[in-house]
Amino acid sequence: MNALQRIKEAVTFPTDRRTHIVVAAWVFFLLVCLSLTFVDVWQAWKARTEQLRDTEINITNMALALAQHADDTIRAADLILSGLVERVEYDGTGDRAKARLHNMLSKRVEELPQLSGIYIFDERGDLVADSNNKPFSRNVADRSYFQFHRQSDERNAHIGPLVKNSTGNWRLTVSRRINRADGSFSGVVLAGIDIEYFKDFYSTFDIGKNGLIILGLNQGTLLVRRPFFDKYVGADLRQVPIFRDYVTRNHSGVHTAPSTVDGKDRINAYRHLTHYPLFVAVALSKEEALEGWVDDTLIHTVGIIFMLIPLALLGNWLLRQVKLRLEAEAQLLVVRDSLHNLNQHLHNMALEDGLTGLANRRHFDLAFKEEFGRALRNATPLALIMIDVDWFKQFNDIYGHVGGDECLRRISVLLLQATHRSGDLAARYGGEELVVVLPQTGMDAATAFAENLREAIHAQAIRHEGSPFGIVTVSIGVASIIPVLPEDVPAQLIKDADLALYTAKARGRNRVARFSDINAIADSI
Ligand code: GH3
Ligand code: MG
Ligand code: MG
Repeated sequence: MNALQRIKEAVTFPTDRRTHIVVAAWVFFLLVCLSLTFVDVWQAWKARTEQLRDTEINITNMALALAQHADDTIRAADLILSGLVERVEYDGTGDRAKARLHNMLSKRVEELPQLSGIYIFDERGDLVADSNNKPFSRNVADRSYFQFHRQSDERNAHIGPLVKNSTGNWRLTVSRRINRADGSFSGVVLAGIDIEYFKDFYSTFDIGKNGLIILGLNQGTLLVRRPFFDKYVGADLRQVPIFRDYVTRNHSGVHTAPSTVDGKDRINAYRHLTHYPLFVAVALSKEEALEGWVDDTLIHTVGIIFMLIPLALLGNWLLRQVKLRLEAEAQLLVVRDSLHNLNQHLHNMALEDGLTGLANRRHFDLAFKEEFGRALRNATPLALIMIDVDWFKQFNDIYGHVGGDECLRRISVLLLQATHRSGDLAARYGGEELVVVLPQTGMDAATAFAENLREAIHAQAIRHEGSPFGIVTVSIGVASIIPVLPEDVPAQLIKDADLALYTAKARGRNRVARFSDINAIADSI
């Protein structure tokens, strides 16, 4: 793989570090988005809760105001009735009293806007006196309020039902019983309250499109309703859940439940009147109550989205910058590694022999000089072994140069295997001549080394038809020195080893010759 390929790979496949930074950046960005979203959702939820609570407070106050209004309206009419009962019971209903009563009733009706008329009936249900100019001729003995008072000793006001008068207007009836001195039934006083009075008041409240206001009797009869329809007057509320489950059980309250009409949630508040067996109930659509909140939330959410978009773009841009930086860093690292490897390679090329993989001549010269200097300084022995392949010209002639090269390579491998001590160096001296530098090695040890090497090469049994031995052999010259004298120089040791090699050749090849032996022979001559 060349340097360019490695650069491409480093860029294409993210390193662990790069992956970590990118993941961390993404996590950071997601956390920011999630935090913003969470804060927005939380705020929206809080606002919703507050909006609903405010609505509940408003609707509760509305129920209070409506109950108060109904109570006051009925109470004002009832006060007149109770005064009237007392008066009729005391004064009787003689002709003189009748005339006075008529004037008084007309006045009272004028004073109270909610009153449409006041009537006094005798024990048979015939009209005795009323507030109207046009006399009321119908007998009311069959009316429920009349029958109620005739049968019941109850002296309190009786409310209801709603009746329609001759002009088609609805009236809420409030009535009281008149007694004789002995307590027996003597008639009924009745006030009609104009439903318009309630309707006008109810129309002043904002209850939205789907809101509802009800005024009803505690026993479960509907009296007034907004929106108002004739068909609802007198409707039975007893099976309506809010009435059945709440109004009948508590004095007042507020709760949310699905509407029986459309199934949508309604917030309901109800309250009983203080003085009369009536109640009011108000219902608001939850959807409408939350309309403002929905608008606010939408605006918020859109705002957050508009905030997130530039944030995302910025985040993306920053991420790209980080990626580019990391890629550039990775490229630089690869280039640096490549340069380092290249340098190493060049260095090796400068010191290594291309054919054999041994140190080249230049390397040998430098190392040998250095080892010689060390031996000189420390006065330690230094051995040099020179190896020459026997009959190599013939080998080349028979097996060709390529075969010769291969033979040299195989011998070199053995040399490399033999030189395992640090400081030992096997080198190609030139042609098929090889050398081994053995620091701190005396003549005997060097000879043993050389002998082993010769045997190892011999053991390879590389076929050599041109040699009298039939296989490739080497001749080795060994020289060793403890350099102490001024004339002891590196060249001298090389010369000695060369001479020893020459001697090995001269003695028949495939052998080791020691320089010291030559000297001994020379000395002995
Ligand atoms: P001797 O036994 O006396 O050493 O005989 P020899 O034929 O080996 O003689 P010599 O050592 O003088 O011969 C050296 C020959 O080695 C010359 C050349 O053909 C061969 N030679 C030198 N370098 C190389 C090389 O790198 N590759 C090959 N194949 N042959 C080489
Ligand atoms: Mg040679
Ligand atoms: Mg040779």
